[in-house]
Amino acid sequence: MTTALRSVFDAASVLVRDTPELRTFSDWPVDVPSSQLTPTDVPGTALLEGFRDQVPEQALALFEAILAAIPEAEWRQTYSEDEVGRHFLDRYGYFELLGPSGHFRSDETRAFIGFWGAGLEYDWHHHEAEELYFVLAGEAVFEAEGMQPRTLKPLDHQLHTSNQPHAMNTLDSGVLTFVLWRGAGLGNPPQMGFA
Ligand code: ZN
Repeated sequence: MTTALRSVFDAASVLVRDTPELRTFSDWPVDVPSSQLTPTDVPGTALLEGFRDQVPEQALALFEAILAAIPEAEWRQTYSEDEVGRHFLDRYGYFELLGPSGHFRSDETRAFIGFWGAGLEYDWHHHEAEELYFVLAGEAVFEAEGMQPRTLKPLDHQLHTSNQPHAMNTLDSGVLTFVLWRGAGLGNPPQMGFA
């Protein structure tokens, strides 16, 4: 385990501890095993530096740790070019900080760092696990079945229940998020479309 990824985990732990909605949602582990994942890059990580001016004080330590860990993280893209297009794939990525297949291992809680660049339409999708989105920087319009669309700004959050379809559109700034999952289906990927 690299020091950079350990710093991301530690900064995330502090953010969860100090943020009631995150603390309440997740059973955040104190001491977890780490695993050696091979670092992989995605084109969009070059965009992350651009969020610097939009990060509130409360999220700054985590943001700096994420930037430092870019070369060490196993960046992923759940979707194929056929599903979302090349433009989207060039501006999107995430890594699993904590979870069944994450840099740190847990079968109770999954945590992702994910970003989407400006002007993207993340189409409707769903997954069995319950989800809490927490915005670290930028903003985006979040939509979920049965709810009015909401623009989330830094430190705002949105909860998705099990298999509740949701979608997201970024505006001029793009968005950097901290995402928590819990419950059944923790290890499964999201599916495009409606449940
Ligand atoms: Zn989701």
